[in-house]
Amino acid sequence: MAKIAINIATGSLQKEEIIVGIDLGTTNSLVAIIHPDTKQAVALKEHDSSSLLPSVVHFDEHSNIMVGEVAKTMLVQAPERTIFSAKRLMGKSYNDIRDNAGNFSYKIIDDNTESLVKIQVGDKFYSPVDLSSYILKELKHRAEHILKTPVNKAVITVPAYFNDAQRQATRDAGRLAGLDVLRIINEPTAASLAYGIGISREEHKTIAVYDLGGGTFDISILRIAGGIFEVLSTNGDTYLGGDDMDHAIVDHWKKSLNISENEIQKDLSLNQSLRLHAETAKKQLSAEDNYEAALGQYKLKLGKAEFETLIHPLIDKTIQSCKNALKDAALKTTDIDAVVMVGGSTRVPAVKSAVGSFFGKEVNDSVNPDEVVALGAAIQADILAGNNKELLLIDITPLSLGIETAGGLMDVLIPRNTKIPSKASRQYTTQVDAQSGMRISVFQGERDLVQHNRKLAEFNLSGIPGMLAGLPKVEVSFLINADGILTVAAKELRSGVEQSIEIKPQYGLTDNDVEKMLLDSITHAKDDISARALAEARTEGEQLLKTTERFLQKNASLLSQDELLKTAAAMQALQLAVTMEDKDLVQAKTEELNEISRPYAERIMDEAVSGAMKGKSI
Ligand code: AMP
Repeated sequence: MAKIAINIATGSLQKEEIIVGIDLGTTNSLVAIIHPDTKQAVALKEHDSSSLLPSVVHFDEHSNIMVGEVAKTMLVQAPERTIFSAKRLMGKSYNDIRDNAGNFSYKIIDDNTESLVKIQVGDKFYSPVDLSSYILKELKHRAEHILKTPVNKAVITVPAYFNDAQRQATRDAGRLAGLDVLRIINEPTAASLAYGIGISREEHKTIAVYDLGGGTFDISILRIAGGIFEVLSTNGDTYLGGDDMDHAIVDHWKKSLNISENEIQKDLSLNQSLRLHAETAKKQLSAEDNYEAALGQYKLKLGKAEFETLIHPLIDKTIQSCKNALKDAALKTTDIDAVVMVGGSTRVPAVKSAVGSFFGKEVNDSVNPDEVVALGAAIQADILAGNNKELLLIDITPLSLGIETAGGLMDVLIPRNTKIPSKASRQYTTQVDAQSGMRISVFQGERDLVQHNRKLAEFNLSGIPGMLAGLPKVEVSFLINADGILTVAAKELRSGVEQSIEIKPQYGLTDNDVEKMLLDSITHAKDDISARALAEARTEGEQLLKTTERFLQKNASLLSQDELLKTAAAMQALQLAVTMEDKDLVQAKTEELNEISRPYAERIMDEAVSGAMKGKSI
């Protein structure tokens, strides 16, 4: 990648731009390149220090930022100013992480909404994108220092289970760190590249990539043939990893040493100290049979057999995921030619043996499990730089993508496990006469009702010329590019009214947003987010008022006097609410009107001659 060229005009040496591969991990992150001489992927490290940069960010009293090993040491002294596992929060709202909020020793703002989470340190607020950007910036500096050349381009890996919002958030973090993110690739895909399986065109193999890191677990089944890597299925658990082993040990010690929650409350650093000891114990037990240490008055002890009993349920869960992944790929364990291990937690001997016995073969752990993903990212970077044209990558969508149709149903356009890039389109029609706009709400997930899935984005197709209900033909098309980023467009075919709209996931940022974020002071971030939430709530309220009005003009006769009065009262309340600054109020009043009017729509639909409706109504 780091090719040298001679500029003929000046006679000077020109270094071609380096593209680095970055594994932005939950626990540790690192950067790798293809060595210009050996052509081998290598993880970058300063002298004899580790290639791993702990994914920990610490803010001192003056809001100075420290990243990595120094920050990690502050976990005990200043847990509330030291942020670990920020990757778990990428692209998430408080509602998404509510059940796990107790696992974080720092303050996550509980705004009880669907807005992006923010972390409070002192009087400042940081988003997970900000925090990840600090880690990426550190890796960029590290690479520049070691390579003595500017580093501006990168391939960054994400877990296979990351949804669009999380991929977009990772891309944004790269941008904030001053990196041009050429490609976001799945970690298992990177890992398989690093193992080099299938590099020779003659090789045909089906492999399982078992990735147990600090905070996430992924199992991916890949088919490799003719130099093409195809992900057949993925499964896993975004809340399962080495951290959970640490927690299990901490809980065990708390119980066996009678450490009460009271004591922990009094001394917050005690919990962190226990956590660090637990991790040390776990690592030691990968090589030895016993762990012993003193922590103040407490004697911490753990035997290997005891440890294996503690983590047995965790390992069992991963094996269940392996079964599910095989089922999705319609394969049996005997169809798997090789099993490769990724992630620091696969160093635990009990993990290796459980996976080995499930698949019925020795696992492949020859590449350093901490570095394998970054090494694969470097290989992908090399392919993008045009140095390795032999390889082609095919990824898949981890979750189904679709839109909301009448009755709050999920209509899937692109099913999960579809190979990407991918395209799909379907026609829809209007629900009421002269309907001029149509709201397209895009969701991701596997449940039948959209309320259980994740909303990615929403937009209005407006300007549909007046037609009877059921006549307009609105074609909605989905396009997922090679990075797994989705673009949705809508077009009314009958009138030729064409309004195609590119959307980014709701939690993603537009180019302008990123610039604004750089300029805006971090303290304004919270206000920005509530302003946007208010605007969104108002749009939704106004939209509902319009539809209800139109509905009443047409169908008032179908409603009873009581229903008409109730509807009018709810409309009036919503009309008032949208003029005020209270998002919750707007939402509440919108919901109230929705509650009242939803059954009407269903009633009309039942009564309407279904034959008049060519497609499905949105
Ligand atoms: P990763 O997210 O891949 O960086 O994985 C890091 C996880 O691997 C952390 O939970 C570490 O505690 C764990 N880990 C690292 N080395 C070992 C080891 N020798 N034995 C057991 N777990 C380890």
